[in-house]
Amino acid sequence: MCGIVGYIGTQQAAPLLVEGLSRLEHRGYDSAGVAVSGSTGLRVAKRAGRVRDLGESLPKRFSGKAGIGHTRWATHGPANDVNAHPHVDGKGTVAVVHNGIIDNAAALRAALTADGVELASDTDTEVLAHLVARSEQATLEDKVAEVLSRIEGTYGVAFLHADFPDRIVVARNGSPLLVGVGEKEMFVASDLAAVVRYTTTVAHLDDGEMATVTSGGFTTYRLDATGPAAIERRAQSVDIDPDAYEAGEHASFMLKEMHEQPVAAESALRGRLDERFGTSHLGGLGLDARDLREIKRVKLLGCGSAYYVGQMGASLIEELARVPADAEAASEFRYRNPIIEPDTLYVAVSQSGETVDTLLAVQEIKRKGGRAIGVVNVVGSAIAREVERGIYLHAGPEVAVASTKALTNMFLAFALLALQLGRVRDLSLAQGKELIAALNELPGQIQQILDTSDAIEPISRRIAEAESLFFVGRVRGFPVAREGAQKLKEISYRHAEAYQTSELKHGPLALISPEVPTVAIVPDDELVERNVAALHEISARGGPLVVVTHPGVDLGDLEERDCARIEVPRSLRSLDPILLTIPLQILAYQAAQSLGLDIDKPRNLAKSVTVE
Ligand code: GLU
Repeated sequence: MCGIVGYIGTQQAAPLLVEGLSRLEHRGYDSAGVAVSGSTGLRVAKRAGRVRDLGESLPKRFSGKAGIGHTRWATHGPANDVNAHPHVDGKGTVAVVHNGIIDNAAALRAALTADGVELASDTDTEVLAHLVARSEQATLEDKVAEVLSRIEGTYGVAFLHADFPDRIVVARNGSPLLVGVGEKEMFVASDLAAVVRYTTTVAHLDDGEMATVTSGGFTTYRLDATGPAAIERRAQSVDIDPDAYEAGEHASFMLKEMHEQPVAAESALRGRLDERFGTSHLGGLGLDARDLREIKRVKLLGCGSAYYVGQMGASLIEELARVPADAEAASEFRYRNPIIEPDTLYVAVSQSGETVDTLLAVQEIKRKGGRAIGVVNVVGSAIAREVERGIYLHAGPEVAVASTKALTNMFLAFALLALQLGRVRDLSLAQGKELIAALNELPGQIQQILDTSDAIEPISRRIAEAESLFFVGRVRGFPVAREGAQKLKEISYRHAEAYQTSELKHGPLALISPEVPTVAIVPDDELVERNVAALHEISARGGPLVVVTHPGVDLGDLEERDCARIEVPRSLRSLDPILLTIPLQILAYQAAQSLGLDIDKPRNLAKSVTVE
């Protein structure tokens, strides 16, 4: 999490840093700060709160043509002015910004304190500034390399040093960092979003690498046991529209991204459907028919929404391909000493491609000789590079913390994978073609649901009033319920619990009351009657209902009671889950809006979770 930005060149750094930070704020937003290197040495300004507050409070004379900035997502110590980055040593010679966690910070802090160093903050990061300032190595690169060799944990770091004013030194181990190349100016960032207005020529660092960035260029090094060893790294031009990072006329990024879903879904499908043979083309997968047949099981790994959509994907794959499939929280996976099977296809699912829990799961799989592919949005991200093979989402940049269009495209990626797996097994040509036809319908159907937003609004306002809710569904509807509850929790701060509809009577029915609404996912499938019967049990106990269902589903006399109905268009049963998910995004969005909450920056969260 957290955003890092750096600038060195011919312009004043501070305004550019603040501007860059404002584009990274979704990555962490509890405090922010900048340091510049000017004629009188380093100057630092930092404070708790938003980047806007920092920008407004910058001292008038804050000049310097090199600088680093940071938006924080606190891991060590509360979000206050002192703990905000950049951190400096006692003399203010070294400034550092850091993304990640230093695992041996306690020992390093204790050693520094024993040596008489006064630590100003509670952070793990501050030790880096003191250690670099105390290093006796001659060059900044050697000082940084020496200190990093003592660090256990993860980092993306950027250093300024008053004695080396012509450079910023950056390094990466587990947290993203890139160098952006401009005209007589250079940028550093944890995310392309920070620099895309100024340059789209970038070089990504890999783990274990360091770079020196001056106004004229950059040099990359591998951090070997013997110190930094120069390596060649060329900057490449990325094809990205800077406007994709703007909310434009929309009130928030989440609203914009929700409405981009039909177009994003078309991009995910474009060129990948083979209508003639009723299958899909997935160039990045590199699996031929024989490889696909050898897959005996599919395991999807993701965190948060990527985990829930992974559950939707698992039932899709089982249904279409009849290959056993399940999803698991990537954050738990490697800690249970997982059995890695050579004929299982492991699928790492992550919008950012930087989710560290998922990345570590992939590394564990590879260590044990397993085969992993990625389902990732950000091209060239850590997971994309780690897996080498996979399916890109083509959703375009997703900025809002609550995932919408990336999640939808993840589901589509699973459908494309299921189609390939199915067509080398028992899925017939006709069934393959039927699925393709249904996939082609989806973008228009998503639009149809988005067009009903106004009708959903009164229901959302009602939901916003409830302190506590249930989301229920069965079989393929259950992950939909989980994702719906997750969205509401994330951005509306309502307590929402997802349950299998069938399990209600085994316990949680005790909580049903007129104050606790239930959002029920009731597709017109083989379980519809059982589902409706369960709704009667809720209604009989005074529980208000919101039923997300298909046209024509008979809810009987429920509709005369406290029961609102939201309809989605029919698709193939296996594809229903994604359409059922869309109204739940709208519900959560509108509920948060009616509560006046900051939808793109929900409290305590951040986009792209790069700490474990
Ligand atoms: N661990 C550091 C801190 O708590 C960095 C957190 C971040 O990535 O924003 O300050």
